[in-house]
Amino acid sequence: MPLPRQTILVVEDEAAIAETITYALQTEGFVPLWKATGRDALAALAQQPVALVVLDVGLPDMNGFDVCRELRRRHAVPVIFLTARSGEVDKGVGLELGADDYLAKPFSPRELTARVRAVLRRTNGHGAPGPVGSPPAPSGAWQHDEARCRISYRGRALDLTRNEYRLLGALLASPGRVFSREQLMAAAWDDPGAALDRTVDAHIKTLRAKLRAAAPDADPIVTHRGLGYSLREET
Ligand code: CA
Repeated sequence: MPLPRQTILVVEDEAAIAETITYALQTEGFVPLWKATGRDALAALAQQPVALVVLDVGLPDMNGFDVCRELRRRHAVPVIFLTARSGEVDKGVGLELGADDYLAKPFSPRELTARVRAVLRRTNGHGAPGPVGSPPAPSGAWQHDEARCRISYRGRALDLTRNEYRLLGALLASPGRVFSREQLMAAAWDDPGAALDRTVDAHIKTLRAKLRAAAPDADPIVTHRGLGYSLREET
């Protein structure tokens, strides 16, 4: 099944492991982009759209969780964590941050590419949202002025709280992609651990009310029972 070549950001400080990963990804038709530090990875993400991030937890400058927390402020890109050994990672922390999968070292290159494919499939092919401020939808229904932190829907500027803005920004970065409550929390809250599932639900409710006020006939946020929320792809 020929797919457009997708860029996979590989964040790993050990050159030998990074080489194995990038070689495997290349063989499978992906375009690997290797960065050895968290800072370099975040800088790369700000510059180009990436379909998925393979993120080592143990990096020299910051740990993988902090990198994930940082990138979630602006990007909805799927993340697979690499851990030094199974059990090292508190999966709860990773899940709060919206991790899409884990892989414990050592792993086979084949295992990694299989996970990458599975996550890309699960995230509905919307793995390359780019920065939240990039032109979001294929339609003109939404306008996102990132410099002013303002989002307009069908020509009406929305008066949003900070969390509502960040939550809607995350949805807007990948129309059609289903986000779990954990992923939305990680995207919109500075301290996702302090938020609860129902906090997300409450904010979705107020967001819907504001969208209804802007466009009474539209209901662009879709609830997926047991899964989370997505933004309707408008044509
Ligand atoms: Ca490492």
